[in-house]
Amino acid sequence: MSQRISGIHHVTAITSDAQKNIDFYCGVLGLRLVKRTVNFDDPRSYHLYYGDELGRPGTILTFFAWPGAHRGRIGAPQVSSTAFAIPKSSIDFWKRRLEAASISYEIAPTRFGDQVVTFTDFDGMQIELVATNDPRAPWSAGAVPVEHAIRGFHSVSLSENDQEVTAEVLIKTMGFTAAGVDGNRFRYVGADASGGVVDLLSVPGSKAGAMGAGTVHHVAFRTPDDASEAKWRRQLTEEGFHVSPVMDRNYFHSIYFREPGGVLFEIATDIPGFAVDEPAASLGMELKLPAQFESARASIESHLPKIRLPQGANS
Ligand code: ZN
Repeated sequence: MSQRISGIHHVTAITSDAQKNIDFYCGVLGLRLVKRTVNFDDPRSYHLYYGDELGRPGTILTFFAWPGAHRGRIGAPQVSSTAFAIPKSSIDFWKRRLEAASISYEIAPTRFGDQVVTFTDFDGMQIELVATNDPRAPWSAGAVPVEHAIRGFHSVSLSENDQEVTAEVLIKTMGFTAAGVDGNRFRYVGADASGGVVDLLSVPGSKAGAMGAGTVHHVAFRTPDDASEAKWRRQLTEEGFHVSPVMDRNYFHSIYFREPGGVLFEIATDIPGFAVDEPAASLGMELKLPAQFESARASIESHLPKIRLPQGANS
């Protein structure tokens, strides 16, 4: 194997309401809105990016905002939950915070020794907080005190009818390592343990998932640069995957392929990042458009709902 995936780059999901989405992910979870732009394939709808201070790979949760979108269905094959890392001592803080926001949660059974809080956002998107030791520094100016703030992704969980075919790609092609089994949960870890965990949930015969609000559209994995991305594209093609051409997403460059279980995978470059078109200090404050849409800015802005950051979300 010539190269290994270090971990998750970003997760992209679907929301029915951009403002409620901002209120939840900035206001309640304390993430930073690091980019407000449009869906490059559908510029009349927002694409919102949340992350740490700079939106570093491994912290980036993004949403296509499709106003009034029908709710999707969690099922297989799908990324069925997205987990963030919080400090081990922060469980009680987060319980109180969720209660104060009238969000009902459950304490999941201890998972590989870590405590896990599970809940859903207003669209039904499944979110987990995993209390663990994660060395990454959180964003220090968000709505959550820094000692309790989210450190970035812990993991994604993929529901699969046959986890073995997906495991084979993770291990043999992408360089993940098998890291244990807990019930029907099979854990695989990338080269970097922080934000590098993929759990496959074996759910044979489960009801099919359906794309819609509250579901994950795809998960992206990290590669350092364009040269390594080109290598991934060659390798995946040689192994028989149908791989997209390299897409310029402005903030990273991407290729897409479907893993054999059926979930859409992306490999995205760590560069150039979100400060490529606005200062790092003011990420997410203004609508940014790729060059091809700049001439249509007035028309695009007139079709997008007005959105604002919740109080205390960027202080
Ligand atoms: Zn993506």
